[in-house]
Amino acid sequence: MKRRDLIKEALLAALARPAIRAGAGVGALATLSSPLAAADLPTIRWRMASSFPKSLDTIYGGAEVLAKRVSRLTGGKFQIRIYAGGELVPALSVLDKVQDGTVECGHSAGYYYVGKNMAFAFDTALPFGLTAREQNSWMSAGNGLKLTRELFHEYNIVNFPGGNTGVQMGGWFRREIKSLADLKGLKMRIPGIGGQIMSRLGAIPQTVPGGDIYPMLERGALDATEWVGPYDDEKLSFYKVAKFYYYPGWWEGGPQLSFYVNEKKWQSLPDAYQAAFEVAAAEANARMLADYDAKNPPALLKLVKRGVQLRAFPKDIMVAARKASFEFYDEQAAKNKTFRRIYTDWKKFRDTSHQWFKVAESAYTNFLYYYRPGKRR
Ligand code: CA
Repeated sequence: MKRRDLIKEALLAALARPAIRAGAGVGALATLSSPLAAADLPTIRWRMASSFPKSLDTIYGGAEVLAKRVSRLTGGKFQIRIYAGGELVPALSVLDKVQDGTVECGHSAGYYYVGKNMAFAFDTALPFGLTAREQNSWMSAGNGLKLTRELFHEYNIVNFPGGNTGVQMGGWFRREIKSLADLKGLKMRIPGIGGQIMSRLGAIPQTVPGGDIYPMLERGALDATEWVGPYDDEKLSFYKVAKFYYYPGWWEGGPQLSFYVNEKKWQSLPDAYQAAFEVAAAEANARMLADYDAKNPPALLKLVKRGVQLRAFPKDIMVAARKASFEFYDEQAAKNKTFRRIYTDWKKFRDTSHQWFKVAESAYTNFLYYYRPGKRR
């Protein structure tokens, strides 16, 4: 072969190579390009401040699920270290510390920050609000994520759904509650909007940190307390000093936890790391509800075996609480533009969703849970 032909051959081969690669399929392309890409990606270490104590292992664990997955997806190059509530920053100032960049990210719940804007409640839960499934649906397939992101953007934060407890229990009562009148003067540990609604029903809501509840309940400084559900409640031993265990926790029908990321830090991430974080957050979000749905049933059975008396809230309490809640939302919507914008969409989504869920879903689960062969109903 002449020299000129050799050069021509080499040139043709070089030109042909990208064409061969392009035809090799996505899998082969990824294999070819990922070692190179990974070598180019930076090592990044972030700190995530959680609002939660390690004792709430299912909720706290949501952040660990995220951090482990992010690390694996990036070949260990993007590391996120988790700090329990109070370890690095005060548990209830996670939002502030992510906003000002003290920490790159956090794991918290929007309803801790309703003092800044009542609309933060939509990031978690409102009384008589969405179930876990409805919250997920509103966030990921409805307008929930878009609308809450507009709110968080005002605080330099990008938010991601980060777990759900499912419907919570109504809590522990030292004496039986037979009607709405029994709530009058009742000292109950119930923070947030649930507490505000309870106060409209005549109760005296208190905000008490987790560790202080038991002794106060024991000596009668509290008549009742709510916490989470059977799995978490059992660990705090409330059943020893308050044997009536009420349901449902109508103020937390499907509370969502969230990951918060400082907006500038988020924008500084390589695209592949952003994708890793998004995927890991989605996994943590789904995983927490699955964990609770597995842990709560045996915990409830254990409590009942110990003599705990399960009680449904009397109907008149449910009806009055529902009425007071929607009056509260109308008042908020009248004075808070952001609340009104999100509430309008949320309410429409909720009401439409009920039209569907009350048909097949409700008929199916009601039959499954209550039918006993041979028993007349
Ligand atoms: Ca609760």
